[in-house]
Amino acid sequence: MIMQMEKLVSLCKRRGFMFQSSEIYGGMNGFWDYGPLGVELKRNVKNAWWQDMCAGHNELVQLAGAPSTFEMVGLDCTILMHPQVWKCSGHYDLFHDFMVDCRESKKRYRFDQVRGRWVSAKSQRIFVTTMVEADSEVEETQRKAQKYFNLRAKDVDQLVWESGFLSLDKLTPEEHAVALAPDANAIGTFTAPREFNLMFKTYVGALSGEEGAAYLRPETAQGIFVNFKNVLDSTRVKIPFGVAQIGKSFRNEITPRNFTFRSREFEQMEIEFFCHPTQSPGWYTYWRNRRMQWYRDLGLSDNRLRLREHHTEELSHYSCGTADIEYAFPFLAEGEYGELEGIAHRGDFDLRSHMEGKLDPKKRPLELERTADGQPKYRGSGRDLTYRDDLTNERYTPHVIEPSAGADRAMLAFLCEAYTEDQAPDEDGKMQTRVVMRLHPRIAPIKAAVFPLVKKDGMPELAQKIYGDLKKHMNVFYDEKGAVGRRYRRQDEAGTPYCITVDGQSLVDGTVTVRDRDTLIQTRIAVSELTQEIKTRIGS
Ligand code: ATP
Repeated sequence: MIMQMEKLVSLCKRRGFMFQSSEIYGGMNGFWDYGPLGVELKRNVKNAWWQDMCAGHNELVQLAGAPSTFEMVGLDCTILMHPQVWKCSGHYDLFHDFMVDCRESKKRYRFDQVRGRWVSAKSQRIFVTTMVEADSEVEETQRKAQKYFNLRAKDVDQLVWESGFLSLDKLTPEEHAVALAPDANAIGTFTAPREFNLMFKTYVGALSGEEGAAYLRPETAQGIFVNFKNVLDSTRVKIPFGVAQIGKSFRNEITPRNFTFRSREFEQMEIEFFCHPTQSPGWYTYWRNRRMQWYRDLGLSDNRLRLREHHTEELSHYSCGTADIEYAFPFLAEGEYGELEGIAHRGDFDLRSHMEGKLDPKKRPLELERTADGQPKYRGSGRDLTYRDDLTNERYTPHVIEPSAGADRAMLAFLCEAYTEDQAPDEDGKMQTRVVMRLHPRIAPIKAAVFPLVKKDGMPELAQKIYGDLKKHMNVFYDEKGAVGRRYRRQDEAGTPYCITVDGQSLVDGTVTVRDRDTLIQTRIAVSELTQEIKTRIGS
């Protein structure tokens, strides 16, 4: 699988899906640029989400046996917000990871991401760690242990391994003293773990002191909560309803890795769904299932996709459920999954915090967090963020279901799923290995490519005309260079679902061939019906 990942990463660069940001200056870890194909793919993923979840939403839902509908509206909030937003949301105090430094190599690691295993030799037991990809960690720990114990290759069976890998944060402080850091030669070089806030800090205006301090949003969700009243007052939405937002988020991840999976700048696609407290468990189940189906519909296979319900101990007590939609990314070890999206039942925690002040998530019922002298730790906005039901006159603080997805992670999963090598005949009918990106036609960057079979006899002119007509409706590509077989191969790698070829017969009877990327079947279609035919096939 690692092999497949390396091939995918190289294809993404070679064909212009993704580039390392600021590459000509050596790049920046955790930042990625989307190239000409990547920008189309990502935009298609976001558009599909927006269309299916917000603009085109028209679902009739059976909730507790009764049919129910709801409205969805959109928002686009700023990246920098009032600093109090992050104090009341809890991010200012709690949005951190633990990190450890290595005193020898001066490298920094996320505490829970350093993995290792116990080994004994020459009457000493040590914990050997590594940060290499999961598939190579066995060999890497073997190599390091051999070097540490100064053993020759023929003596490696003196190493007695204890089964299984553990992450460093599972060890006691005493055990840390015998841990061998990933890039160190001596044991015991890890510092004690320290908190590291993941929000990027900046300064607004000419003020450089703390008065001007602001944070780049680490999630888009808070913009929706603080605009709850504005949405209610400016539209006719009634509970239940949802608000959708797509936008950039920033997290100063300690160890960004696995291609775009963990980036420092990324895009989120988030929904805050507001409902009556008694109905929230039903809506939670509804959103969990609906979001899972969305990934399936766009091509992720069931054998790599799973819905993982959090255990009760993992839940904050205001929540009656959180589930992650996870995907078996090829860079992970066999049997491991990475999060694509979290669907959380958040109760009334967020709206109440922005009304009253920061709530204590450990207290049941939720109480305002207070300083040692009993003062509210962070005051809320003081605005009324409750809802009054016109029909029953009931006033309450709505509960929230939050499906929170990452556009970049979804795109990476679609790319991983799409990458395929198969056998297809070349020009001379010989079977050759071809690389094909089997992207769902809805998200494929280029919907169709148009080729004249040869560059003469009026074929380019007809092909150009077809290209011009199709271009008004979708992203199409024109190519007349080189052998047609090679042109097909280039489109297979780009994930283009259809290739249209103008040949000798086209000039006689006004038909062209349409080649299907996956089945390789070619059908003749009249030029007059082509636009409609391709639109139907791509489902637009
Ligand atoms: P993780 O545990 O992987 O750090 P998280 O649980 O912190 O993720 P959430 O806060 O629930 O993530 O964010 C919602 C979604 O945003 C995630 O499911 C993921 O798709 C996306 N996301 C979060 N952090 C990153 C990141 N650093 N790079 C790319 N996407 C991210």
